[in-house]
Parts: sequence; structure tokens; C-alpha cells
Amino acid sequence: MFNNALTPGGKPLLDINAGGGGGGSPETPDLEGLAEWDQTYMLRALQLAVDAYEQDEVPVGAVVVHEGRIIGAGGNQREALKDPTAHAEMIAITQAAAALGNWRLSGCTLYVTLEPCPMCAGAILQARIPRVVYGAVDPKGGAVDTLYQILSDSRLNHRSDITSGVMATDCAALLTAFFREKRQQGKK
Ligand SMILES: [Zn+2]
Repeated sequence: MFNNALTPGGKPLLDINAGGGGGGSPETPDLEGLAEWDQTYMLRALQLAVDAYEQDEVPVGAVVVHEGRIIGAGGNQREALKDPTAHAEMIAITQAAAALGNWRLSGCTLYVTLEPCPMCAGAILQARIPRVVYGAVDPKGGAVDTLYQILSDSRLNHRSDITSGVMATDCAALLTAFFREKRQQGKK
């Protein structure tokens, strides 16, 4: 299903204006409005994941939103930077902190296409990010709900509100397609 989006010059699969009906704002979210904004920002994270895919990186994307503005954005760049810490969330968080001129990301929401790993969940704690929205669960590395619950552990000094499953099917399909392609390449 991502073939179109991944073909250069192909029609963009993801239309950021799709399904909009206006209404609501990030500053004064009603529940329905919040869900709508969540979709919008997750779509942006998903586009960054598609970019990562095209660069032969594990396709994960993330954005940090502050007062309705994206202040940090990144796709996974582990291969390009040859850096085990270059996860999408880490890149987006570092950018956001630079934008705010503060390590503490008060009032920010992190959107990421895949459930954060222990390292990224740790960075989310360190940055005191109050809200995290993720797409697909990660059965092999998820540290928010699946394997560990780092962002809701009362022993730690910070907890984040968590929303999961936003555009999960699309987020997971991209990863599945990537790893399927990798396996096929491995067989050649
Ligand atoms: Zn991570």
C-alpha cells in the first residue's frame, strides 16, 4: 500500500488535508478535536518514516509539537549517521530542545510512528515531555506499554500521558513492507 508513496514522482499516498473538517485547535482541544490533531501530526511523522524508508533506514518518524507548531522532526538515521542513538525520537527531541532553548520540553507532545524503545523512553523522561502519541506497538522493543512501562512507572520522577494506536495500521504496514523487502534482498 506504500508503493505509490515510495515511487519517486508517484502520487502522495498521504494527504495531510484528508479527513479534515476544521474545528478545534491544539491550544483548546476538545476530545474530538484532539483526535483530529493527533492524526494530522501522526501523518507528518509517517511522512518522515516514509522518507527514512527511501533512505534505506528502518522506517520510523517522529515530530515534537509545541503550541500547535512542529519544533522538532526526524526520521530514523541510524545507518546514515552510523549512530545507534540516531532514532527518530532522539533527533526530534534534540531539535525541539534547541528550538525552545531548554532541555525541558514543557507543553510539548511527541508523535512517533512506533512505540518508543527504552532509550527513547528514557530521553522522553529526561525531557519531561508531558504527552506521547505513538502509532504501532513494538513487541520486540516497546518500552511504553509492551515490554516496559517506563513512562507510567510511579518510581520514576516523571510520567507522560500516552495515546497509542494512532494510524497504527499505516505505521506498522510501512515497517512490515521494509523488513519484507530486506528479507527478499537477503535471499537474492
Ligand atoms: Zn528508540
